[in-house]
Amino acid sequence: MQLIPIPAFSDNYIWALHDGRRAAVVDPGEADGVAHWLKQQGLQLDTILITHHHPDHTGGVAALREATGARVIGPAHEPMPEPLRRVGAGDTVEVLGLHFEVMEVPGHTAGHIAYHTPDMDGRPLLFCGDTLFSGGCGRLFEGTPAQMLDSLTRLAALPDDTRVCCTHEYTLSNLKFALAVEPGNAALVDYATRCQALRAQNFPTLPSSIGLEKKINPFLRTREVAVAQSALAREPGSANDAVAVFATLREWKNVFR
Ligand code: ZN
Ligand code: FE
Repeated sequence: MQLIPIPAFSDNYIWALHDGRRAAVVDPGEADGVAHWLKQQGLQLDTILITHHHPDHTGGVAALREATGARVIGPAHEPMPEPLRRVGAGDTVEVLGLHFEVMEVPGHTAGHIAYHTPDMDGRPLLFCGDTLFSGGCGRLFEGTPAQMLDSLTRLAALPDDTRVCCTHEYTLSNLKFALAVEPGNAALVDYATRCQALRAQNFPTLPSSIGLEKKINPFLRTREVAVAQSALAREPGSANDAVAVFATLREWKNVFR
């Protein structure tokens, strides 16, 4: 099985799986790049997985379904105009012989879901949409800090070697913020250097892994003393609990340049 990020727009990735014959794509915000790739590789599109309703994740669904007859699987609790199989927490979907478990991860949107399989060629794999990014997390358009922290905490509980397929290449700007929060984190400094080298050659920084994100992503590190101290310095007098630290970090990131 092959796992490939198809670039779309300025910084989206449409993640694709294929077995040499059939393919599946996740969050196709546009159809042309995917259609071109399918043709070039001689693949039949079997399945489209959707994590949430935003247009940069769904804009290509109708055209791809019409062109290929692929089935569409998406979240049970999101506004979705497409004919699709709606799935929620604990549902299992079989895609190209892989068994994915659906997790509900509200925060970025109210009905956002993620797809996780324990074994794709011997390692776990996660499609997490706009919930978890490398070094960051999605903006809270429809959820509360407590909801998003709970969603991220459940993703962080997946095995360390889980490959994390995020739908945006936001890593460098996320790491700039992460370094402002935690300048003394040696793993973070080292990772930022490696990501700068990758982006300088136009390579993706993804997939990341759960084990790595737990070491470098401030939004998964709200219980670390250094992270909490930075949040308290930013919002003096705020509560020193994980949700308050998370809320402070998220608001700080919203205005960070
Ligand atoms: Zn989104
Ligand atoms: Fe997005």
